[in-house]
Amino acid sequence: MFETERRIYLDHSATTPVDERVVVIMNEFMLEKFGNPSSSHSFGREAKAALENAREPIAALLNAAPEEIFFTSGGTESDNLALLGYALKHRDKGNQVIISSVEHPAVRAAAEELARSGFQITRVKADAQGLVAPEAINEALTPQTILVSIMHANNEIGTINDIGTIGRLLRERGIGFHTDAVQSFGKAPIDVQEMAVDLASISSHKIYGPKGVGAIYIRKGVEVYPRFWGGHQEGGNRSGTENLPGIVGFGKAAELCRQVMSLEGEQLSELRDELLNMLVERLDDITINGHPTRRLPGNLSITFQGVEGEALLMALDLEGIAASSGSACSSGSAKPSPVLIAIGLTEQEAHATLRFSLGRSNVRSDIVHAAKVIIDAVNRLRAMAGFRPAAAY
Ligand code: PLP
Repeated sequence: MFETERRIYLDHSATTPVDERVVVIMNEFMLEKFGNPSSSHSFGREAKAALENAREPIAALLNAAPEEIFFTSGGTESDNLALLGYALKHRDKGNQVIISSVEHPAVRAAAEELARSGFQITRVKADAQGLVAPEAINEALTPQTILVSIMHANNEIGTINDIGTIGRLLRERGIGFHTDAVQSFGKAPIDVQEMAVDLASISSHKIYGPKGVGAIYIRKGVEVYPRFWGGHQEGGNRSGTENLPGIVGFGKAAELCRQVMSLEGEQLSELRDELLNMLVERLDDITINGHPTRRLPGNLSITFQGVEGEALLMALDLEGIAASSGSACSSGSAKPSPVLIAIGLTEQEAHATLRFSLGRSNVRSDIVHAAKVIIDAVNRLRAMAGFRPAAAY
C-alpha cells in the first residue's frame, strides 16, 4: 500500500514511543545487569538494588513512599488487582462496589467479574463533560459499600476528576478508594495523600516507557488479595520474577516526566489549543468533548458532524496521520464508545468522533500540517456524504 513519507503521531494516549534515554538503561539491564532480584549473589543483589531504586521516581510523582509501589504488567493488571484484590479481601465487610459510567474497560470488566462473584456493582453517571460529581458518589453509598473506583483522567475525552473531594468523603467513612491514574500519571499532578486514595493504577507505556509494565500504589496498611501466587515477589502482592528491564525503564521514564511535566504540559496545551483553533476556524459543525478546563494537556476529542469516524481515521492514516476513534481497546469494534454514549452523545455522534492525543514527539509544524489534512479530509467526506452544515440552513 502506498504510504506517505511524513508520519505524524497524534495517538499518545494509546501509547508513546520509548524515550531513548529509557532504552539505554533497559539495554544495560538486559545485556549486563541481567540478574534475578531474588538471587543472593552479586548479580542478584545488583538487580535487587535497581528494582528498589526504580520505585523512588515513581513514588515521587505520586507523593507516595517507595514501599507503597508494587510493579505489575501494566494498567490493566493494576486495575484488576485493585478491584478484585480489594473486594475479595474485604468481602466480609460488605458487597457493594461503585464505579463510574466512564471507566476504562479494565475497570469495567473487573467490576463485571466481581458481579459474577456475587458483588453488587453500582455505576455512577458522569455528567456531559465527563465529570463524576462527589455528591453523586455520596448518594450511591450504602452500608454495604466497601470500594469505590473512579478514574483520575479519562482516556477518551481527557476530563480530570476531582479525586481529592471524593477521596476525602470516602476516607471519613472508612470506604476503600481506587483511582485509575493511567492517563494522568506523569502528565498532571497527582498527590495520593491529598487525594486520600488507597489504591492507584499507573502504566509505563503512556509516559515514554516500555509496554507491559506498570505499577499499583497500595497505601501502607491497605491489604489486597493477590491475583498471582508463587514466589512472593512484590510483598506477596504480585508473585513472579520481576520484569527488571521494563521496571528500570519505567523508573527512568518517571524520572524524566518529573523533570519536564509542568513545562511539557504547558507546551502541549498550547499546541492542542492551536490545533483546535485551526479546526474551529475552518470547519463548521464540530464539537469538543470533555471538560473545557479540567482536562489533560494533550487530549482533543472532537465530534465531526456528518462524518463517519472510521472513514476519517483511514483517510488520515493514508496521509500519515495517526489518531484514534475512541480508546485503543475499543477501536476496530463496530460498537460506539461507551464513554461517549455515557456523556450523552448519540450513536451517530459517537461514530463521528476522533481523539487526537498530542505528546513529546509533536512539534508545531506537525500540528499545522495535521490541521490542514484533517480539514481537507472532513470536507471531502462531508461532500461525499452530501452533508450540509447546519449554518447553510
Ligand atoms: N486505564 C486507562 C485509563 C487507560 O487509558 C489504559 C490504557 O489505555 C489502561 C487502564 C490499561 O493500561 P495498560 O495498557 O498498561 O494495560
